[in-house]
Amino acid sequence: MSENVLISGAGIAGPALAYWLRRYGFNPTVVEAAPAPRPGGQTVDIRGVAREVVERMGLMQAVRDRQLHEKGLEYVSARGRRAAALPAELLDGAGPVAEIEILRGDLSEVLLDATTDVEYIYGDSITALVQDDSGVQVTFRRGAERRFDLVVGADGVHSKVRSLAFGPESQYVRNLGGYGSYFTIRTPEPLDHWMKIYAAPGGRWVGLRPDHDPQYARAFLSFRSPELTYDRRDVAQQKALLEQKFAGLGWHTRHVLDGMHEADDFYFDSTSQVVVPEWSKGRVVLLGDAGYCGSPLAGHGTALSLVGAYVLAGELAADGNHRNAFPQYQRVMQAYVEQRMELPPGGLKMAMPMTAAGIWLRNTSTRLMTSRPFRGALAKAAAAKPDAIDLRDYAGSTSEVTDSVTAGLTQATPSRE
Ligand SMILES: Cc1cc2nc3c(=O)[nH]c(=O)nc-3n(C[C@H](O)[C@H](O)[C@H](O)COP(=O)(O)OP(=O)(O)OC[C@H]3O[C@@H](n4cnc5c(N)ncnc54)[C@H](O)[C@@H]3O)c2cc1C
Repeated sequence: MSENVLISGAGIAGPALAYWLRRYGFNPTVVEAAPAPRPGGQTVDIRGVAREVVERMGLMQAVRDRQLHEKGLEYVSARGRRAAALPAELLDGAGPVAEIEILRGDLSEVLLDATTDVEYIYGDSITALVQDDSGVQVTFRRGAERRFDLVVGADGVHSKVRSLAFGPESQYVRNLGGYGSYFTIRTPEPLDHWMKIYAAPGGRWVGLRPDHDPQYARAFLSFRSPELTYDRRDVAQQKALLEQKFAGLGWHTRHVLDGMHEADDFYFDSTSQVVVPEWSKGRVVLLGDAGYCGSPLAGHGTALSLVGAYVLAGELAADGNHRNAFPQYQRVMQAYVEQRMELPPGGLKMAMPMTAAGIWLRNTSTRLMTSRPFRGALAKAAAAKPDAIDLRDYAGSTSEVTDSVTAGLTQATPSRE
């Protein structure tokens, strides 16, 4: 009875979906372009309904075992002096540092460990998709052609599945005017569990976040910029670009740039939003960043992926027919996605001032907001709004659900899509 589902992308969304599909009796296969799991990335938050999903997956203990505690965010000057700070406890876990923080790579590992019964194909990707009444014929860059019942694009902001089935990236991806890079380095100073950001004029950030190993740090370099032309596969070109953008800056910039050249988990991308009006086309559906992404500025990408995977698999299992399940997945998710894609007021301009005066103003207002008279108001403003979604308990009735998959497959009458 197992419905064969091809998932493109073994980031966060792909393995999370594979987990739920296996649990409901489907037969997922995941194809990942990278030659092996990608360990990189900064700390990501698990809060609200995403936390509930991780509980329902039975993975909360595994997540807690790898949890990384950050005390808060500290802005530093070119000489490394504290200019302003946002302690996590002040915002009760609602600010930039959440209650459950885990390195993206660790979360990816937890999800991969939970899906060892799933077929993963690394170092390959889809090159063509042809849908017909009964399935999707898939051509791969390296492997032999195969046929699947459904195909899921969980292959991130620059989704190949999206460009093959929905049209060119330019229709769906909007650069917000910035770029960011993440990689691991030897730490130039003890971070004592603080995330540190040196904001330099020109809208440039040099940042360090704690790693499990106090000898290391998760570094990031972000900058504001109009659209740049570069090759997404050319890492040397991206590193050269960062060298040029950050040349001559203070604090630990030189150390971070040197570490960047040694790093084996280098990641670089634009700060982009993804908006796709309809997330499915026939037997092909989008999940996570491929279909909806608020950018790192909005955050919540991991939460949207985890919750999206839960709802997509749940609806497929509950209905048994993708023609109903795909639109229903979007209906259930839409309000929550829109809510969590919202950008902070002022967007990148406010977050990353261009001038020394703008940086001074941001630091001063941060100090003011976190001072005793204003702390209460700040905590209230930062308090997380309830997630705009009700999580149906699909998993609670697994046997019912499995029966409906079987029934749906048996009843499915061919129709042209
Ligand atoms: C290495 C890495 C580091 C990251 N670090 C951060 C971070 O520090 N902060 C942050 O906010 N966000 C980061 N992100 C993005 C973040 O993971 C996502 O915004 C969010 O978790 C949603 O997950 P996703 O699975 O939809 O997308 P992603 O996590 O981006 O996963 C997409 C996966 O698809 C794969 N892929 C891409 N193209 C193809 C293709 N043609 N065929 C097959 N596979 C393909 C990618 O290699 C990747 O593994 C990072 C992503 C990656 C891949």
